[in-house]
Amino acid sequence: AEDDAATEERRRSHARAGPAPFVHVARTQAMQDARSGLPILGMEQEIMEAVAENDVILLCGETGSGKTTQVPQFLYEAGYGSSEFLDRVGRIGVTQPRRVAAIAAAQRVAQELSTPIGATVGYQVRYDKKISPKTAVKFMTDGILLRELQADFLLRDYSVLILDEAHERSLNTDLLLGLLSRVVPLRKQLAAEQPGILPLKLIIMSATLRVEDFAANSNLFPTPPPIVRVPARQYPVTVHFARRTELHDYVGTAFGKVCQIHERLPPGGILVFLTGQREVEYLCRRLRSKFDVRHSAAEPAGRDAEAESEARQAADAFGADEAEQQGDADFEGRDAVHDDFETEEALEDEDDVVVMGGEGFTPEQITAAEARLDSQLGTKLGAMKGAEKAGGPVKVHVLPLYAMLPRAAQAAVFGAVPEGARLIVVATNVAETSLTIPGVRYVVDAGRAKEKVLDTHGAASKYEVAWISKASAEQRAGRAGRTGPGHSYRLYSSAHFNDNFPQHGDPEVLRTPLEGVALVMKAMGIDKVTNFPFPTPPDRAALAAAQACLQALGALDSTGALTDLGRAMAVLPLSPRPSRMILQVAKEAAASRKRSGDALSYAVALAAVISVESPFVHIDGIMAREGESEESVRRRRQSASSAHKRLRVARSDVLSALAAFCAYNNATDREGFCRETYLHSRNLREASALHRQLVHALMHMGEKVAAFSGGKAMEDLLKSADTLDKPSPTVLMQLQRAITAGWADQISRRVHSIEYVQEHSTSSKGRARAVRYTPNALDEQVYMHPQSALAKAAPEFVAYTQIVRTAKRPYMTGVTEVEAGWLSIVAGPLIELSAPLDAPAPHYSEAVDAVVATHAVSFGRHGWQLPSVEK
Ligand code: ADP
Ligand code: MG
Repeated sequence: AEDDAATEERRRSHARAGPAPFVHVARTQAMQDARSGLPILGMEQEIMEAVAENDVILLCGETGSGKTTQVPQFLYEAGYGSSEFLDRVGRIGVTQPRRVAAIAAAQRVAQELSTPIGATVGYQVRYDKKISPKTAVKFMTDGILLRELQADFLLRDYSVLILDEAHERSLNTDLLLGLLSRVVPLRKQLAAEQPGILPLKLIIMSATLRVEDFAANSNLFPTPPPIVRVPARQYPVTVHFARRTELHDYVGTAFGKVCQIHERLPPGGILVFLTGQREVEYLCRRLRSKFDVRHSAAEPAGRDAEAESEARQAADAFGADEAEQQGDADFEGRDAVHDDFETEEALEDEDDVVVMGGEGFTPEQITAAEARLDSQLGTKLGAMKGAEKAGGPVKVHVLPLYAMLPRAAQAAVFGAVPEGARLIVVATNVAETSLTIPGVRYVVDAGRAKEKVLDTHGAASKYEVAWISKASAEQRAGRAGRTGPGHSYRLYSSAHFNDNFPQHGDPEVLRTPLEGVALVMKAMGIDKVTNFPFPTPPDRAALAAAQACLQALGALDSTGALTDLGRAMAVLPLSPRPSRMILQVAKEAAASRKRSGDALSYAVALAAVISVESPFVHIDGIMAREGESEESVRRRRQSASSAHKRLRVARSDVLSALAAFCAYNNATDREGFCRETYLHSRNLREASALHRQLVHALMHMGEKVAAFSGGKAMEDLLKSADTLDKPSPTVLMQLQRAITAGWADQISRRVHSIEYVQEHSTSSKGRARAVRYTPNALDEQVYMHPQSALAKAAPEFVAYTQIVRTAKRPYMTGVTEVEAGWLSIVAGPLIELSAPLDAPAPHYSEAVDAVVATHAVSFGRHGWQLPSVEK
């Protein structure tokens, strides 16, 4: 302890003494020069003092100010992370919410220190690791650190941890914050008591002003940690709002805007924000073929095929922790529809212009920067006001940027731009805060991002295109003001911005099904889920309900402890319900002597299908087209109804959806098939993409998956959707039982009462039959949806995936017939057995090699009687 105190004292005095390095590093002159321009460099002493004197500090500053790349170097030079002065490695750990950012930052810092990656500076992300025993600065995704916490709650490997991009409020970052808020005091206490344990420093870094969420959060820190602010050095950015908001073809609008900027405005990089890989690749192709001779008419098909295959490869390289940027399924390339941009309306269609930023510079400095840019680029900034044109056409250098892009292609955005060409980077929101692209002067902001949304079916999380927050829009605009004054073109109106953009996005914890959050936490050894110090706590009652659900599924025992089943569920890259479903199939496959592993590949497909909206077009939603006769509408409804009937599986809506999915995947003309059979191709495409990802993620789990399934079903998982035939009756039965297991707490029992409802019109009388049920888990009665595959049969017990409320009634949807006998097998936690019955008398059973007695079985809180069992 004395040694540690001495070391600590040396660090402190070093921090006070200022920039004389404690550990010597060799930077090239060019690197020194590049660093010296960063606002954070003048703050080294202040930051190091704050670190020395506090356990936790908050550091916030504009994107690009040097937080990610410089702070780890300050710490390294100050001796944190060095084994030279400590007889053990105390690493400097830096977490990032995204894989791309972890790798890019590690590479940049290694380069600045003139060391190879994996030596002094390394990184670890899922499936990829460049770390050696000597590594002092380790960049990683937050998921990696969470896993390390499970192995060593004291995180003895580290002397400092930096949680970067904390403002993004990813679930992992929030969990880390909660956990580290407890680890830091623990380490401090232990360090005081035991030699060989150092205190742990925590630096929370954040780009925007959301630091109050952390600082004044008594959940996390009893005394608010000090905030160190890196002064903003942001050149003014002129924000241009569009006159109207393009609601659909924003990619086309972005294309037009980029063309306008390129053709009319002075040199300077353009950064375009879209939502996903497909859009990005598509816009890149369009821009290349319009401007770049090499990729124009001569070889358009080849170029397309190439880009397509690159995109495909990238998608294949997709890993489960990279889900943030996935969901490439919902964009349709519409080359043919776009008209080429008309040059005459150039850049004059904005209604509102606002100038933001400009802090940190005097007017003279801004003028000087303008002059410098002018002389570098041979332009006049006056031209940017639209008065002058930028001279003849210049070449473009178009680069995509998204999380799934292969590493080398990602690095290209930091590379040299060919002489005389304009850099155009088309990116997803990865470019919003975590990566700084040099030379950007124009931002084109579509105002949307792909966001994780709560999936009402409780299956895998989904990604949907949604409006970004006002804070994000400011961030995006700010990207244009790094090297000099810039412009941000927003493809939405100021009214739309004011009315529809939230101030800040919700933290991920509020957008994730809580069963999943609770299971992840339990698997991490966090016992008291409801007491966890979340930076933004979810509703306590909802958390308690999530725990109850996990108990019903058998993931937690009655004391709330994780079971073996729960441990297995936590490993699968899916939410608890579909995980439970898949494990039920796997277990039965492993137990059966016949080769019935086939069901497993269907179960994985089913998990994907359940996660998206129904593929069946709603019959009541088929309306008269312009000038269409009533008779014709009726005929279309009828043919939709009979087309659906052909695909239907009588005993389950979700299995009907699976059957539709299989038929869709085997169709040669998928779009045509959807039109003929009245299916939503968008939902099926989405399911198909999700299925590919699931299979991929499960494959990466290797022996872990084999362990669930007796080792026999791996090849079945490898089966892609294209080889899934129509599921056999045996498979369907297995899946039905598995659905019962996954939705065991959502079982309803029929009440003998049939009502005729007006709001659905499947019958010619304009009324439909709705059967009433009592759900086990709700305090109200619900109805079988008249368009369910089970509407007529109305079996006694059913499982539902969702309750849909109309103005008049709650309806069950996603319904599956349940055999009463299954419940005692798959819904154990909800079952109560009576004392052994006298008749038949207890007797010896060879099958279980024990004496068994018959018990009466009751299920759930209404005490429904089920067939008795022997036990
Ligand atoms: P912050 O974390 O505050 O957003 P960074 O440390 O990521 O800032 O970046 C600081 C500066 O370092 C950027 O403005 C950019 O000029 C430069 N930089 C960062 N990464 C790279 C890279 N991979 N290649 C070239 N320059 C980079
Ligand atoms: Mg950063």
